[in-house]
Amino acid sequence: MDTPMIRQYKEIKAKYKDYIIFFRLGDFYEMFFEDAEIGSKELEITLTSRDPENKVPMAGVPYHAADQYIARLVSRGYKVVICEQMEDPKLAKDLVKRDVVKIITPGTITDMNALEDKKNNFLSCIFKSGDSFGLSFADLLTGEFLITELISSHPYQEVINEIAKFQPRECIINGEAYKSEFFRKKLEEDLNVFVTLKNDDYFDENDSRELLISQFHEEKLESILGKQFAFRASGACLKYLNETQKLSLIHINSFKFYESNNFMVLDVSCRRNLELTESLKDGRKTGTLLWVLDNTLTSMGGRLLRNWIEQPLLDIVKIQERQDAVEELLGNYFLREDLKEQLKNIYDIERLTGKLVCGNCNARDFIAIKNTIQKFPQIKKILSECKSKLMIHLYNQMDNLEDIYVLLDKSIDDDPPLTIKEGGIIKEGYDPEIDKLRRAAHEGKTWIADLERKEKDRTGIKSLKVGFNKVFGYYIEVTKSNLSMVPENYIRKQTLAGGERYITEELKEYETLILNAEERLQGMEYEAFCRIRDELIKQIPRLKKSAYCVSVVDSLLSLAEASAKNNYVKPEITLKDEIHIEEGRHPVVEKSQKGELFIPNDTHINCSDSMISVITGPNMAGKSTYMRQVALIVLMAQIGCFVPAKRAEIGLVDRIFTRIGASDNLASGQSTFMVEMSEMAYILKNATAKSLLILDEVGRGTSTFDGLSIAWAVIEYIRKNIKAKTLFATHYHELTALKNMAGIKNYKITVKERGEDIIFLRKIIAGEADKSYGIQVAKLAGLPNAVVRRARELLTGMEKKRDEEMGLTAAASAVSVRRDPESDNQISLDSLKERDILDTIKSLDINTITPLEALNLLYSLKQRL
Ligand code: ADP
Repeated sequence: MDTPMIRQYKEIKAKYKDYIIFFRLGDFYEMFFEDAEIGSKELEITLTSRDPENKVPMAGVPYHAADQYIARLVSRGYKVVICEQMEDPKLAKDLVKRDVVKIITPGTITDMNALEDKKNNFLSCIFKSGDSFGLSFADLLTGEFLITELISSHPYQEVINEIAKFQPRECIINGEAYKSEFFRKKLEEDLNVFVTLKNDDYFDENDSRELLISQFHEEKLESILGKQFAFRASGACLKYLNETQKLSLIHINSFKFYESNNFMVLDVSCRRNLELTESLKDGRKTGTLLWVLDNTLTSMGGRLLRNWIEQPLLDIVKIQERQDAVEELLGNYFLREDLKEQLKNIYDIERLTGKLVCGNCNARDFIAIKNTIQKFPQIKKILSECKSKLMIHLYNQMDNLEDIYVLLDKSIDDDPPLTIKEGGIIKEGYDPEIDKLRRAAHEGKTWIADLERKEKDRTGIKSLKVGFNKVFGYYIEVTKSNLSMVPENYIRKQTLAGGERYITEELKEYETLILNAEERLQGMEYEAFCRIRDELIKQIPRLKKSAYCVSVVDSLLSLAEASAKNNYVKPEITLKDEIHIEEGRHPVVEKSQKGELFIPNDTHINCSDSMISVITGPNMAGKSTYMRQVALIVLMAQIGCFVPAKRAEIGLVDRIFTRIGASDNLASGQSTFMVEMSEMAYILKNATAKSLLILDEVGRGTSTFDGLSIAWAVIEYIRKNIKAKTLFATHYHELTALKNMAGIKNYKITVKERGEDIIFLRKIIAGEADKSYGIQVAKLAGLPNAVVRRARELLTGMEKKRDEEMGLTAAASAVSVRRDPESDNQISLDSLKERDILDTIKSLDINTITPLEALNLLYSLKQRL
């Protein structure tokens, strides 16, 4: 038979089957049954049993330390339901009433200690119907709410690109989206998202509309009128947030509808390969572009800068506005130093708006807001001296929030406690009632403090003491040896080993006065605290607006700092299909290299003679570094940042695609070659003439001739059908023959031979590498000498044999173009052989050749065909 409390527990658990219930029992949250087993394992706490007869497994954590345990469970994908006691157990007649007050999930956690400071924690909702998707992203603490719709022939891929951009922790998706195993796997395994399935009713259009109207007011919904998928995805998101928080989320007061093509499109593998915010090595920030550019001093600025890097701009005007602001900051050291001084110790007001509404805020948060706002007038004053358009805009937008400062300054004690119900929060002079009570309590305490001296004098008992404890309240203590001197009016209360404790009528009166005053005082201070909190909540839109201005200033300053530290220059942004970089550098490699100097390189891409660069050079020469450097410089330019180069002119790019290595996909079970080819297929279908393609060793994963043919065909296709700016690194020297086609140019990374060794010069120049230097590189890598020697022998033998049999040693460089009216300047592989045969015939001296030699030659020519 279950006890009544276990029955109560089971009723609640029945409604929340997939959740871990934190069931409040006095000073503990207890978990029962299977929850207790999970809890004890995950949290490493003891599994016990409450009732030895019934053996109900249970595990508990103290309520005051619960946050860290909850955070640990949630980080592992569990959802935690907080079930509180809804009445004072002392006053409850029967079983204490309990109810669910909050649900905490990976996407809705509000404990600031559990979150990364400089990264948003988004919840996302995805609604799929046919090829259409509605997507929404909400950050519960900061109140950011973004909505978009996607209709595409590659719908899953595009959705995944968006998810990779915002990196939500949790996704709520409908059945149709859930059905695709590929999609689910991508979300869960590749992007580390916790996925929850909800049926289509959860995304009901009418419910969603009503929710949105009540959250954002009708007039704000214009931007998504007629967009039913956007409605459904955002309605479901609000529904989920309301369900988990169980209160109205007034700090989410606006939303933004965006089109994914308002920003440079970057797919998952491109973000990874370019190591924008997470390194390939260990997923951390070190070694990424963010690592180089992030000098932000506030969490808010840190999050915004990350968002800028994840979403490079396509609007030339906006880019130039950011550039001009960075230029102004870069050019004025004192301006930067002044702003830096003000941005230090700025509190995360954005997240605090969420904490005000749905977290456990306390008076220390108010002091943090006050101290932050205190800096606003100075920041605004510094901005008032700026000339660039964006800085002037920020100056105009920034609200000093003086009224809020004054309110907090006059009401909240400068060093308040963490507790909110035990007083000590409200300043003297703010509320006359509070002052009166505090005085009364104080006077009572002074009277008691004097009592010891007065009573010592009156009774002559030198060791008489006045003390206080929670059970008996105030008392007078007299040691055994002095009991005879105790006056008549003392009333005995407690006997101790060494003496007696007494009270007097008067002492009791003062005690009641003090306790009453203190109790009322605590109540009134708490009420005042709540009133001030409500006032702050009303001011959230203003708080958020100024906080946003601060975060933009911080991000711009961060870019300017990075530009100053690393010697970046302002790139010229154009609408031409051209990229010119003089002495460009890789922003991350140049910072990570210990000792070795980074060698700068030029880049010239245009649509006439060098649309596609075919880059050859031995392994380790620096091909990947060079190609990534170009992509990163373009990306940095479109963020509005300065770039690591001597001079740069960047024609706007709509997307960057990368096809580099595939080793990270091996875990998913697909063969490397398959992954490579499907990525290549995606690129060829989606790239435009405005895109930048970084292709590293396409075709490597199959046999030489297959690989070469595929690489060859890919280049031809890009040149003819896409016309995208392309950097193509390859080991296939045969591909350098393509240089004869308009728009294709060869480059090589130089190396110097010294005896049997090579030295990497790391300079890229026009032309094609003559050898692959594989054996030299293998030697550098430490392959045993015996192996290197044998490899060299084998290579010499094979080269000789090939020369004898094919006469093709110089085939690649001697190639000519066979004009084929059918196929627009296509070069065929056969033409390499034909050209070689022609060369052999041309170099023949008919006058000196014998008939037998002629016959042999004819035979060998025939063999070559
Ligand atoms: P590849 O792609 O040709 O095999 P990588 O681009 O991986 O070669 O370069 C190998 C290493 O050479 C890099 O890790 C880097 O440390 C160094 N490197 C590359 N380019 C440069 C450069 N321009 N200046 C200095 N060091 C470089």
